[in-house]
Amino acid sequence: MADTDDFRTETRAWLEANCPPEMRTAVVDEKDACWGGRDAEFSSPAQKQWMDIMGARGWTVPDWPAEYGGGGLSPAETKALRQEMARIGARNPLHSFGISMLGPALLKYGTEAQKKLYLPQIARGEIRWCQGYSEPGAGSDLASLATKCEEAFDEERGDHWLVNGQKVWTSYADKADWIFCLVRTGPMEPKHRGISFLLFDMATPGVTTKPILLISGNSPFCETFFDDVRVPKDQVVGEVNKGWDVAKYLLGHEREMISNMGLGGNGEALGTAFADGLADDPLLRADVARFDVDALAFRAMSERFMDELKAGQAHPAQPSMMKYVGTELNKTRHELRMSAGGSAALEWESEASRGGKAPREWLRTKANSIEGGTSEVQLGIIAKHILQLPGA
Ligand SMILES: Cc1cc2nc3c(=O)[nH]c(=O)nc-3n(C[C@H](O)[C@H](O)[C@H](O)COP(=O)(O)OP(=O)(O)OC[C@H]3O[C@@H](n4cnc5c(N)ncnc54)[C@H](O)[C@@H]3O)c2cc1C
Repeated sequence: MADTDDFRTETRAWLEANCPPEMRTAVVDEKDACWGGRDAEFSSPAQKQWMDIMGARGWTVPDWPAEYGGGGLSPAETKALRQEMARIGARNPLHSFGISMLGPALLKYGTEAQKKLYLPQIARGEIRWCQGYSEPGAGSDLASLATKCEEAFDEERGDHWLVNGQKVWTSYADKADWIFCLVRTGPMEPKHRGISFLLFDMATPGVTTKPILLISGNSPFCETFFDDVRVPKDQVVGEVNKGWDVAKYLLGHEREMISNMGLGGNGEALGTAFADGLADDPLLRADVARFDVDALAFRAMSERFMDELKAGQAHPAQPSMMKYVGTELNKTRHELRMSAGGSAALEWESEASRGGKAPREWLRTKANSIEGGTSEVQLGIIAKHILQLPGA
């Protein structure tokens, strides 16, 4: 405890001295968040400075081992760091599928060479990753995926993998440097057994992306095509044909990440944020009060679950429970924001509405209960694990 107190004191002083004032404000939108990558675009010099300084210290991934670019902090120290960052309103220095999804899977299933190569690059924000799971014929039933990956040989490359197929809904595929991808290396039956987990560079010849335009007016994801993409043999994570284990493990981390939406940016109660707009509407006031109580309960549940996860005591249905509640909560938050704003909240393009920030965010939340596995699928998993139905 005393050690953690010392750590907290030192961390507080370090953050005060090193976190730029511009990085002590809430992130405005997805573009204002720092994603890193080979062609990283920074919204300000302070944003780059904050990513670099935190990355160099390993504090973009405080609980990863120091030998792989992490901070090497204990769970208690990691929690203290997060609390001290929250105290001064410090931004997350790096948003990254590498950190929230691929990293944990590499730590568990990667070879030593893969960990040494990829993890420090992820920690420093040098490589931006995308996720190639879903296909036109494989969404909720992910194990039906058909992207073909065969062994091949040529003089120039020697033995390698040859990948052909299509992914869909690949978030930020047009901006990503590398992809972690599920491919079929074995037969379709039994379908979970012929899948491998493959990493490759999106600049490899044969990879193309086509952005998909959404109802919100944004285009955050793509169709991704692979035509004779040649991948080095050592870029499979885990055993060939056993990628389903890696895929499922990663999905648990993805669901934890998505569930954080339930916490809401700065944690401010809706009743405080919309105090004026609520005065005349008792029904809306009651809905907001109910929401704020649910949000507080979710925050408490989330902290307890994170502690259990770190202690290795997490229930197998935990990520699904968190994902389900967190995303439904976030959708309700934005419904209430729109209700409180009245018809003016629908303003789509004016400067006063900051380019329709509120309605675009509201429409974006519709996807929360689909991405990372739908709410219906999460409820199915919870039912199996809690009720011990067959297939759990
Ligand atoms: C914003 C966004 C970002 C995404 N990003 C990525 C990404 O980066 N990479 C990636 O690989 N994928 C991504 N996805 C895809 C996402 O994982 C899939 O959309 C999701 O798994 C559902 O698959 P589907 O769209 O094919 O729907 P389907 O599986 O066709 O489902 C259609 C409907 O049937 C229901 N349903 C299906 N099976 C069951 C069942 N067993 N029990 C009960 N109901 C069922 C579903 O709940 C849904 O309502 C993203 C999706 C969104 C919306």
